[in-house]
Amino acid sequence: MHFDHSFDRKKTKQIMVGDVPVGGGAPITVQSMTITKTADHEGTLQQIYALAGAGADIVRCTCNKPEAAEGLARIVPRSPVPIIADIHNNHRMALAALDAGVHCLRLNPGNITDPSKIKLIAQEAKDRNVPIRIGVNGGSLDSSLYDADRGVTPEALVESALREISYFDEVGFDLVKISVKASSVPLMIEAYRQLSEVTDYPLHLGVTEAGPPPAGTIKATAGIGTLLAEGIGDTIRYSLTADPVEEARAGRTLLEALGLRERKNVDLIACPSCGRAEIDVYKVANDAVAAFEDLKIPLQVAVMGCVVNGPGEARDADLGIAAGNKRGHLFVKGVNVAVVPEDEMVDQLVDWAIFLHEQGVEATMARAETTRDSARRAADEDRARNLDERGEDANAAETKIDLIRKRKEDSAI
Ligand code: SF4
Repeated sequence: MHFDHSFDRKKTKQIMVGDVPVGGGAPITVQSMTITKTADHEGTLQQIYALAGAGADIVRCTCNKPEAAEGLARIVPRSPVPIIADIHNNHRMALAALDAGVHCLRLNPGNITDPSKIKLIAQEAKDRNVPIRIGVNGGSLDSSLYDADRGVTPEALVESALREISYFDEVGFDLVKISVKASSVPLMIEAYRQLSEVTDYPLHLGVTEAGPPPAGTIKATAGIGTLLAEGIGDTIRYSLTADPVEEARAGRTLLEALGLRERKNVDLIACPSCGRAEIDVYKVANDAVAAFEDLKIPLQVAVMGCVVNGPGEARDADLGIAAGNKRGHLFVKGVNVAVVPEDEMVDQLVDWAIFLHEQGVEATMARAETTRDSARRAADEDRARNLDERGEDANAAETKIDLIRKRKEDSAI
């Protein structure tokens, strides 16, 4: 029996952001945010399309002034994905965004604190059936919730969200999702855990101000990934100091890696390289990542540095290539199918991946009908040649271990 790769998820209520369900067992969604001026509706739409292409299911745009709300009125009907308006201090901008027809609002309880204004927004959102994200943020927490000794605490982040919910309750509004973000990963993890205990509303996960990649991506992955693995979270956003397309890609990659979303793009795996490698694995792997970047091929593809161990180590990949004697050995599901010149490795990998994706394994094996035997023989030859030239112990590991053991024996004497 195969290992069960899925995680149990906490059941939350479901809301609809436009036509995208969030919570209640719906697929976890990826969000990102535009960095254009929302008033520049053409420029913003271009970015929204780029984000949707990179895997964003929902996109947020700032609505900080009337011109931005007007931009939203033009953007919403042409957007390929639902649009959330990000509201800052001015409650009128929330009402203007609703007039513009946005699919959701994001309110920060630390920014709009007057209960009457919050209730007015909730009432208007309720009348239009538009959900609101309560977006608590450690950096802009309502000052009344700061702990004099401990600063921002998980309890305070949760309390801020609950307070906002109580205002919404007063007008009977419950189309809610919640985030309790902080730039500290342990703080946000604990806040979300506590929040998940006390509410069934869907949760939007994120590490705020994570910073530039790669550190920012790692921080966000640590926080979001930990919670998702615990079954907490219904929608996610990477807040990176980078092109938002990177955010969307990172979010999508995390969900695919955790098996929480169907794979949309190539999952490229590569060996770490070692003394046996017969190509520059880093370069070929990076070239392959670039070549597959815009192709929607949901396959696992392997780039391996040698034919001695490569095909075996990557036998679970759908397709792969291993280097040997200035040529590339292509394999499908562990079976050698063709030999290609070294400088064509990436092009051929892409060509076979497209064929495999479009025609399936059987047709691919049929395509390799005439080359399969010679490909296997060539791989055997190159495997034997590599072993001959580099020996059984290409990384000198056994030699080093002998030395270590000898030193141990000597000192024992
Ligand atoms: S043995 Fe071959 S496939 Fe494995 S790490 Fe070394 S070069 Fe890569």
